[in-house]
Amino acid sequence: MAKLRFNALELVQERQKIEVTAPSDKVSDYFGENAFGLDQMRASLSQDVFNNLKHCIDKGKKIDEPTADAIAAAVKTWAIAKGATHYTHWFQPLTGGTAEKHDSFYDMHARLEKFKGGALVQQEPDASSFPHGGIRSTFEARGYTAWDPSSPMFLIGSTLCIPTIFVSYTGEALDYKAPLLKAVQAIDRAATKVCKLFDRNITKVTPSLGCEQEYFVIDHALYSTRPDLVMCGRSVFGHQPPRGQQLDDHYFGSIPPRIFDFMRDFEIECHRLGIPVSTRHNEVAPSQFEVAPVFEEINVATDHNQLLMDVMNKVAEKHNLKVLFHEKPFAGLNGSGKHCNWSLVTNTGINLLQPSSSARENLIFLTFFVNTLKAVYDHADLLRASIASAGNDYRLGANEAPPAIISAFIGTQLSAVLNELEHSGNVSVEKGDNMYMKLGIDKIPEIILDNTDRNRTSPFAFTGNKFEFRAVGSDANVAGPMTVLNIAVADQLNQFNKEVEKELDKGTERRMAIVNILRKYIKESKSILFDGDGYSDDWVKEAEKRGLSNVKDTPRALDFTISEKTIKLYEKSNVCTERELRARHETLLENYIMKVQIESRIMGDLALNHVIPIAIAYQNKLIENANGLKGLGIDNSAVVKTINDISQHIESIKNNVRQMIEERKRVNKIEDIRDKAIAYCDDVKETYFDKIRYSVDKLELFVDSEAWPLPKYREMLFLR
Ligand code: ADP
Ligand code: MG
Repeated sequence: MAKLRFNALELVQERQKIEVTAPSDKVSDYFGENAFGLDQMRASLSQDVFNNLKHCIDKGKKIDEPTADAIAAAVKTWAIAKGATHYTHWFQPLTGGTAEKHDSFYDMHARLEKFKGGALVQQEPDASSFPHGGIRSTFEARGYTAWDPSSPMFLIGSTLCIPTIFVSYTGEALDYKAPLLKAVQAIDRAATKVCKLFDRNITKVTPSLGCEQEYFVIDHALYSTRPDLVMCGRSVFGHQPPRGQQLDDHYFGSIPPRIFDFMRDFEIECHRLGIPVSTRHNEVAPSQFEVAPVFEEINVATDHNQLLMDVMNKVAEKHNLKVLFHEKPFAGLNGSGKHCNWSLVTNTGINLLQPSSSARENLIFLTFFVNTLKAVYDHADLLRASIASAGNDYRLGANEAPPAIISAFIGTQLSAVLNELEHSGNVSVEKGDNMYMKLGIDKIPEIILDNTDRNRTSPFAFTGNKFEFRAVGSDANVAGPMTVLNIAVADQLNQFNKEVEKELDKGTERRMAIVNILRKYIKESKSILFDGDGYSDDWVKEAEKRGLSNVKDTPRALDFTISEKTIKLYEKSNVCTERELRARHETLLENYIMKVQIESRIMGDLALNHVIPIAIAYQNKLIENANGLKGLGIDNSAVVKTINDISQHIESIKNNVRQMIEERKRVNKIEDIRDKAIAYCDDVKETYFDKIRYSVDKLELFVDSEAWPLPKYREMLFLR
């Protein structure tokens, strides 16, 4: 085994530079050349067909057959000219990741390439093995994929990929995308109505999203030599390196050359696909990096994030690297998240979360700002649940990471504005009065000049002109949390609309009505606001006093996805039925169980079959040494002590692994899936993982490095 490690280390030393050449010096020459979206359709379709399509997209209507045929013909011509031979419906099942099944354009009977509208618009993949949480029983095992024309099609290699939703035969969503699209409609309806209070020209509101993606990169040979990384994306063992991130020398440091080449290469691929990646830098931990695109419409941004991860995985192989998207691949170092920058943009081009330089215009900003905070307050638990996963559990709530408490950071200045607004009393505004001054809203214009107020520890932070949901896991499909955020805010805006209407009916002046309602919301929701250090123990205590929940593990957090309140919220906004929610809940629990089970198995396997034999072999050498010393009459007590220590760790590992396996057998028999997930969490993971790891990591320190089978942290993190 140690041979594998040393072979890998040698390979790393010998890596040659992989040359990366861009198709042109100017990105504009090739940006989007492998995507076929609305712009390309406009250029290649007749005006009528295009208008038809646009109408269907805007109104969420079904596309008629002649229109679909015309689009299919156009995209087929485009794709084949670029060397495509196959097409696939590309979808996002609840497994995470994406799925595709390729069909050939070539029709064997007709002996020519064919692609009809029907094949573009709908497909019926045999998808009975995708998770469905009991929705698709075997007798109705059919699921179908349906084209989402609002997201561009794209070419990967010789395959045309068509973004689709994935639903059961009976119409229930089996993926991440279908609920997101419905949530986008819900927030459009609610937000547009609110906008009309201010500006009649606003007829559509679209959420925008920019995902900052964090990730680790290590050499592929070292990765392959760690079965834990291969099987679960996370190192279950590994002693802390002498140097971790304590020097803070990695963050924003110069990018290592091999990584730089990799980044350039995947950025080029992304640009060709029309993914607007624009930012790259080192992150806090060694070997941790970040990539961020320019924000886009939320639906497209979500697809692009899934695609980005795919592209990164593929390009990394070419560079003999491995990208780790796991939320916590290395204990003791920062985990990786996916900061979801979210905002609302009107058809008139206004960012509703952008404070304005005019005090008067800031009432609309305040309306959306305060309503968002209120929604986060009201649905904090559901938001917490939306980011729950086995991987993110190691990042949130663990001692070294941010807690699983949802709070919002808005900066001292906006806090002051809200404070003043809340306490300004029931000001009455006479004719000629400057209401904005009286209410303190006039201070907002100054705030936008000062954008330095930052807090890196908040799970939900206002960053100048958008909110940033930072607690989302790096491996997550962002459609999950983004669906929740959008329907929570949509529901809140509907509530706001109702309250405003009521006030207007009473004859209250419009602006005063709005202000009074906002003021009430500020009062009700201010316990969610926190500007201090979100990672400190004090905050955990303070949050408890404030009554904010801190649910540390996934199985319990997921309870909120099927609470009465949640079911009502989803049904009201027409996004998911109770049946769909329950199916999703079950799927997520199932996924959690699998993940912990795999980790537990790999731990047992590595400990018993890789670590202990090496430890015993080394111990035998020490025993020889101790005997030799004794024979010469030299004090051997130090060696004997080491032999003893090693024995104890070996014993501890053996006992704990044996008990863990017994426990797994018991837990596997539990019928109720929630009970089973909780048992996996409490009785398998929490009870044994740390204990086993502790002894294995100690043995790593004792055993001769020449013999140690697993690449060490310092090797994985610092060699490239
Ligand atoms: P930060 O403000 O966090 O330092 P950036 O300005 O680089 O970072 O933005 C981070 C991400 O937020 C980028 O993807 C960016 O495109 C996105 N972003 C900026 N403005 C908006 C917006 N109005 N809505 C959504 N995302 C946005
Ligand atoms: Mg940011």
